[in-house]
Amino acid sequence: MPVDVMHRFQLGDTGIHGVFVQMESSWAAMRAHVDYPEPVAGLLGTTVAAAALFTGLVKFEGKLSIQLRGTGDLRLLFAEATHAGTVRGIARWEGGPPRSLADAGDDAQLAITIENAQRQTRQQGLVAVDGEHLAAALEQYFERSEQLPTRIVLAAGGGRCAGLLLQRAPAEGGHAASGDADAWNRAGHLLSTLRDEELLGLSVETVLTRLFHEEGVRLQAGRALEFACSCSAERVAGVLRSLGEEESRAAAGPEGVVEVTCEFCGHAYRFDAVDVAAMFAGDGVMSGSGTRQ
Ligand SMILES: [Zn+2]
Repeated sequence: MPVDVMHRFQLGDTGIHGVFVQMESSWAAMRAHVDYPEPVAGLLGTTVAAAALFTGLVKFEGKLSIQLRGTGDLRLLFAEATHAGTVRGIARWEGGPPRSLADAGDDAQLAITIENAQRQTRQQGLVAVDGEHLAAALEQYFERSEQLPTRIVLAAGGGRCAGLLLQRAPAEGGHAASGDADAWNRAGHLLSTLRDEELLGLSVETVLTRLFHEEGVRLQAGRALEFACSCSAERVAGVLRSLGEEESRAAAGPEGVVEVTCEFCGHAYRFDAVDVAAMFAGDGVMSGSGTRQ
Protein backbone atom coordinates (compact mmCIF):
# COMPACT_ATOMS: atom_id res chain seq x y z
CA MET A 1 0.00 0.00 0.00
CA PRO A 2 1.63 3.26 -1.07
CA VAL A 3 1.88 6.12 1.39
CA ASP A 4 1.07 9.58 -0.10
CA VAL A 5 -2.56 8.82 -0.59
CA MET A 6 -6.01 10.27 0.09
CA HIS A 7 -9.01 7.99 0.67
CA ARG A 8 -12.67 8.79 1.12
CA PHE A 9 -14.86 6.39 3.08
CA GLN A 10 -18.34 5.96 4.53
CA LEU A 11 -19.38 4.32 7.79
CA GLY A 12 -22.21 1.95 6.85
CA ASP A 13 -25.59 3.70 6.66
CA THR A 14 -24.87 6.13 9.48
CA GLY A 15 -24.64 9.20 7.24
CA ILE A 16 -21.06 9.65 8.43
CA HIS A 17 -18.37 10.03 5.82
CA GLY A 18 -14.67 10.56 6.22
CA VAL A 19 -11.32 11.21 4.62
CA PHE A 20 -7.91 9.73 5.39
CA VAL A 21 -4.55 11.07 4.20
CA GLN A 22 -1.00 9.96 4.77
CA MET A 23 2.13 11.51 3.24
CA GLU A 24 5.78 10.62 3.27
CA SER A 25 7.72 11.39 0.04
CA SER A 26 5.61 14.45 -0.81
CA TRP A 27 6.14 15.70 2.74
CA ALA A 28 9.89 15.05 2.48
CA ALA A 29 10.04 16.97 -0.83
CA MET A 30 8.39 19.97 0.82
CA ARG A 31 11.14 20.13 3.45
CA ALA A 32 14.08 19.23 1.18
CA HIS A 33 15.27 22.82 0.74
CA VAL A 34 14.32 24.29 4.15
CA ASP A 35 15.61 23.13 7.51
CA TYR A 36 12.50 23.47 9.65
CA PRO A 37 13.10 23.05 13.38
CA GLU A 38 11.10 20.13 14.81
CA PRO A 39 8.13 21.99 16.28
CA VAL A 40 7.70 24.13 13.13
CA ALA A 41 7.86 21.02 10.92
CA GLY A 42 5.16 19.47 13.09
CA LEU A 43 2.91 22.52 12.71
CA LEU A 44 3.45 22.65 8.95
CA GLY A 45 2.94 18.89 8.55
CA THR A 46 -0.43 18.99 10.26
CA THR A 47 -1.46 22.00 8.13
CA VAL A 48 -0.50 20.16 4.94
CA ALA A 49 -2.39 17.05 6.08
CA ALA A 50 -5.47 19.19 6.78
CA ALA A 51 -5.38 20.83 3.33
CA ALA A 52 -5.13 17.42 1.66
CA LEU A 53 -8.01 16.11 3.82
CA PHE A 54 -10.28 18.96 2.74
CA THR A 55 -9.82 18.16 -0.95
CA GLY A 56 -11.67 14.94 -0.15
CA LEU A 57 -14.71 16.89 1.08
CA VAL A 58 -15.43 19.36 -1.70
CA LYS A 59 -15.91 18.92 -5.41
CA PHE A 60 -13.81 21.56 -7.14
CA GLU A 61 -11.28 22.05 -9.88
CA GLY A 62 -8.52 24.28 -8.68
CA LYS A 63 -6.71 24.74 -5.40
CA LEU A 64 -7.57 24.78 -1.75
CA SER A 65 -5.40 26.41 0.87
CA ILE A 66 -5.17 26.77 4.63
CA GLN A 67 -3.30 29.84 5.79
CA LEU A 68 -2.45 31.07 9.26
CA ARG A 69 -0.93 34.53 9.61
CA GLY A 70 0.43 35.43 13.01
CA THR A 71 2.05 38.37 14.70
CA GLY A 72 3.96 36.30 17.28
CA ASP A 73 6.92 33.97 16.74
CA LEU A 74 4.81 31.91 14.39
CA ARG A 75 4.41 34.16 11.35
CA LEU A 76 2.95 31.95 8.67
CA LEU A 77 1.67 28.47 8.04
CA PHE A 78 0.51 27.89 4.48
CA ALA A 79 -0.54 24.65 2.85
CA GLU A 80 -2.11 24.23 -0.56
CA ALA A 81 -3.59 21.15 -2.22
CA THR A 82 -5.15 20.80 -5.66
CA HIS A 83 -7.96 18.63 -7.02
CA ALA A 84 -5.28 16.79 -8.99
CA GLY A 85 -3.58 15.64 -5.78
CA THR A 86 -0.56 17.96 -5.67
CA VAL A 87 0.46 19.52 -2.37
CA ARG A 88 2.91 22.23 -1.27
CA GLY A 89 3.45 24.32 1.83
CA ILE A 90 5.70 26.72 3.75
CA ALA A 91 6.14 28.04 7.27
CA ARG A 92 7.77 31.25 8.51
CA TRP A 93 8.80 31.86 12.06
CA GLU A 94 11.02 33.96 14.29
CA GLY A 95 12.96 33.31 17.45
CA GLY A 96 11.76 30.39 19.49
CA PRO A 97 11.05 28.33 17.57
CA PRO A 98 7.25 28.44 18.03
CA ARG A 99 5.75 25.28 19.54
CA SER A 100 2.01 25.64 18.97
CA LEU A 101 -0.63 27.77 17.28
CA ALA A 102 -0.75 29.87 20.45
CA ASP A 103 2.65 31.29 19.39
CA ALA A 104 0.97 32.98 16.41
CA GLY A 105 -0.24 35.73 18.73
CA ASP A 106 -3.60 36.83 20.07
CA ASP A 107 -5.35 37.93 16.91
CA ALA A 108 -4.22 35.12 14.62
CA GLN A 109 -6.72 33.97 12.03
CA LEU A 110 -6.98 30.93 9.88
CA ALA A 111 -8.17 31.40 6.31
CA ILE A 112 -9.49 28.52 4.24
CA THR A 113 -9.63 29.44 0.58
CA ILE A 114 -10.93 27.54 -2.42
CA GLU A 115 -9.99 28.87 -5.82
CA ASN A 116 -12.05 27.31 -8.54
CA ALA A 117 -10.03 27.46 -11.75
CA GLN A 118 -12.89 26.55 -14.06
CA ARG A 119 -15.47 28.97 -12.72
CA GLN A 120 -12.86 31.60 -11.80
CA THR A 121 -14.34 31.94 -8.32
CA ARG A 122 -12.69 32.37 -4.96
CA GLN A 123 -14.35 31.43 -1.70
CA GLN A 124 -12.81 32.23 1.65
CA GLY A 125 -13.77 31.29 5.20
CA LEU A 126 -12.09 32.70 8.30
CA VAL A 127 -11.83 31.28 11.78
CA ALA A 128 -10.17 32.74 14.87
CA VAL A 129 -7.50 30.66 16.53
CA ASP A 130 -8.25 30.54 20.23
CA GLY A 131 -6.48 27.36 21.18
CA GLU A 132 -3.23 25.54 20.59
CA HIS A 133 -4.45 22.96 18.14
CA LEU A 134 -5.13 23.29 14.45
CA ALA A 135 -7.58 20.36 14.42
CA ALA A 136 -9.79 22.06 17.03
CA ALA A 137 -9.78 25.37 15.13
CA LEU A 138 -10.73 23.61 11.90
CA GLU A 139 -13.51 21.66 13.62
CA GLN A 140 -14.93 25.00 14.75
CA TYR A 141 -14.73 26.30 11.22
CA PHE A 142 -16.94 23.47 9.92
CA GLU A 143 -19.27 23.73 12.87
CA ARG A 144 -19.78 27.49 12.54
CA SER A 145 -19.53 28.28 8.85
CA GLU A 146 -20.83 25.06 7.36
CA GLN A 147 -23.02 23.78 10.20
CA LEU A 148 -21.46 20.39 9.67
CA PRO A 149 -20.40 18.43 12.76
CA THR A 150 -16.79 17.46 12.06
CA ARG A 151 -14.06 15.64 13.94
CA ILE A 152 -10.43 15.95 12.84
CA VAL A 153 -7.24 14.25 13.97
CA LEU A 154 -3.88 15.44 12.56
CA ALA A 155 -0.37 14.20 13.20
CA ALA A 156 3.17 14.77 11.96
CA GLY A 157 6.38 13.03 12.92
CA GLY A 158 8.81 10.30 11.96
CA GLY A 159 9.04 11.63 8.40
CA ARG A 160 5.31 11.46 7.80
CA CYS A 161 2.22 13.58 8.19
CA ALA A 162 -1.33 12.26 8.28
CA GLY A 163 -4.92 13.12 9.02
CA LEU A 164 -8.31 11.53 9.58
CA LEU A 165 -11.59 13.40 9.37
CA LEU A 166 -15.18 12.41 10.10
CA GLN A 167 -18.16 14.47 9.06
CA ARG A 168 -21.84 13.98 9.68
CA ALA A 169 -23.82 14.68 6.55
CA PRO A 170 -26.94 16.80 6.93
CA ALA A 171 -29.89 14.41 7.02
CA GLU A 172 -32.41 14.72 4.21
CA GLY A 173 -35.23 17.13 4.96
CA GLY A 174 -33.17 18.71 7.71
CA HIS A 175 -34.10 16.04 10.28
CA ALA A 176 -31.48 13.79 11.75
CA ALA A 177 -32.53 10.21 11.18
CA SER A 178 -33.01 8.21 14.36
CA GLY A 179 -29.83 6.55 15.46
CA ASP A 180 -27.67 9.18 13.75
CA ALA A 181 -26.71 10.98 16.94
CA ASP A 182 -25.73 7.72 18.61
CA ALA A 183 -23.61 6.68 15.65
CA TRP A 184 -21.96 10.11 15.55
CA ASN A 185 -21.12 10.06 19.26
CA ARG A 186 -19.79 6.51 19.01
CA ALA A 187 -17.63 7.31 15.96
CA GLY A 188 -16.25 10.42 17.67
CA HIS A 189 -15.40 8.41 20.77
CA LEU A 190 -13.66 5.73 18.68
CA LEU A 191 -11.69 8.37 16.79
CA SER A 192 -10.44 9.87 20.05
CA THR A 193 -8.78 6.53 20.88
CA LEU A 194 -6.55 6.77 17.79
CA ARG A 195 -2.91 7.39 18.68
CA ASP A 196 -0.59 9.53 16.52
CA GLU A 197 1.74 6.57 15.86
CA GLU A 198 -1.18 4.54 14.51
CA LEU A 199 -2.39 7.32 12.22
CA LEU A 200 1.14 7.90 10.93
CA GLY A 201 2.33 4.33 10.68
CA LEU A 202 -0.56 2.02 9.83
CA SER A 203 -2.32 1.54 6.49
CA VAL A 204 -5.74 3.09 5.90
CA GLU A 205 -7.36 -0.37 5.99
CA THR A 206 -5.80 -1.20 9.35
CA VAL A 207 -6.66 2.17 10.91
CA LEU A 208 -10.29 2.12 9.77
CA THR A 209 -10.79 -1.55 10.62
CA ARG A 210 -9.37 -1.07 14.12
CA LEU A 211 -11.61 1.92 14.77
CA PHE A 212 -14.82 1.30 12.89
CA HIS A 213 -15.13 -2.40 11.95
CA GLU A 214 -18.54 -2.60 13.64
CA GLU A 215 -19.90 0.29 11.61
CA GLY A 216 -19.09 -1.34 8.27
CA VAL A 217 -16.44 0.78 6.54
CA ARG A 218 -16.91 1.41 2.81
CA LEU A 219 -13.50 2.51 1.58
CA GLN A 220 -13.19 4.21 -1.80
CA ALA A 221 -10.19 3.83 -4.07
CA GLY A 222 -7.30 6.04 -3.02
CA ARG A 223 -5.92 9.00 -4.92
CA ALA A 224 -2.18 9.58 -5.02
CA LEU A 225 -0.76 12.75 -3.47
CA GLU A 226 2.48 14.28 -4.66
CA PHE A 227 4.53 17.40 -4.11
CA ALA A 228 4.41 19.88 -6.98
CA CYS A 229 5.02 23.59 -7.21
CA SER A 230 3.13 25.91 -9.54
CA CYS A 231 5.91 28.50 -9.73
CA SER A 232 7.28 29.60 -13.12
CA ALA A 233 9.52 32.32 -14.55
CA GLU A 234 6.35 34.02 -15.79
CA ARG A 235 4.77 34.12 -12.33
CA VAL A 236 7.95 35.35 -10.67
CA ALA A 237 8.22 38.09 -13.31
CA GLY A 238 4.62 38.98 -12.52
CA VAL A 239 5.52 39.42 -8.85
CA LEU A 240 8.49 41.65 -9.76
CA ARG A 241 6.24 43.68 -12.05
CA SER A 242 3.79 44.21 -9.21
CA LEU A 243 6.65 45.43 -6.99
CA GLY A 244 7.51 48.06 -9.58
CA GLU A 245 10.70 48.84 -11.46
CA GLU A 246 12.42 50.73 -8.69
CA GLU A 247 12.02 48.00 -6.10
CA SER A 248 12.91 45.27 -8.60
CA ARG A 249 16.14 47.02 -9.54
CA ALA A 250 16.92 47.62 -5.87
CA ALA A 251 16.79 43.81 -5.40
CA ALA A 252 19.41 43.28 -8.11
CA GLY A 253 22.95 42.11 -7.41
CA PRO A 254 26.17 43.83 -8.59
CA GLU A 255 25.65 43.02 -12.30
CA GLY A 256 22.00 43.95 -12.35
CA VAL A 257 20.90 40.34 -11.93
CA VAL A 258 17.75 39.79 -9.89
CA GLU A 259 17.62 36.34 -8.36
CA VAL A 260 14.40 35.08 -6.82
CA THR A 261 14.19 31.74 -5.06
CA CYS A 262 10.80 30.06 -4.77
CA GLU A 263 10.07 29.46 -1.09
CA PHE A 264 7.97 26.39 -1.88
CA CYS A 265 10.38 24.38 -4.01
CA GLY A 266 13.74 26.17 -3.77
CA HIS A 267 13.95 26.77 -7.53
CA ALA A 268 16.05 29.88 -8.31
CA TYR A 269 14.94 32.24 -11.08
CA ARG A 270 17.50 34.64 -12.55
CA PHE A 271 16.65 37.79 -14.44
CA ASP A 272 19.55 39.75 -15.88
CA ALA A 273 19.52 43.49 -16.50
CA VAL A 274 18.11 42.99 -20.03
CA ASP A 275 15.30 40.77 -18.69
CA VAL A 276 14.41 43.33 -16.04
CA ALA A 277 14.40 46.15 -18.61
CA ALA A 278 12.15 44.09 -20.89
CA MET A 279 9.83 43.35 -17.95
CA PHE A 280 9.02 47.02 -17.57
CA ALA A 281 9.37 48.03 -21.22
CA GLY A 282 5.63 48.17 -21.88
CA ASP A 283 5.09 50.20 -18.75
CA GLY A 284 5.74 53.66 -20.17
CA VAL A 285 9.10 55.28 -20.71
CA MET A 286 10.84 56.23 -17.51
CA SER A 287 12.81 59.46 -17.42
CA GLY A 288 16.04 59.85 -15.50
CA SER A 289 14.19 61.22 -12.52
CA GLY A 290 11.82 58.25 -12.46
CA THR A 291 8.72 60.12 -13.50
CA ARG A 292 6.53 58.81 -16.28
CA GLN A 293 6.62 60.65 -19.61
ZN1 LIG B 1 8.31 26.74 -6.73
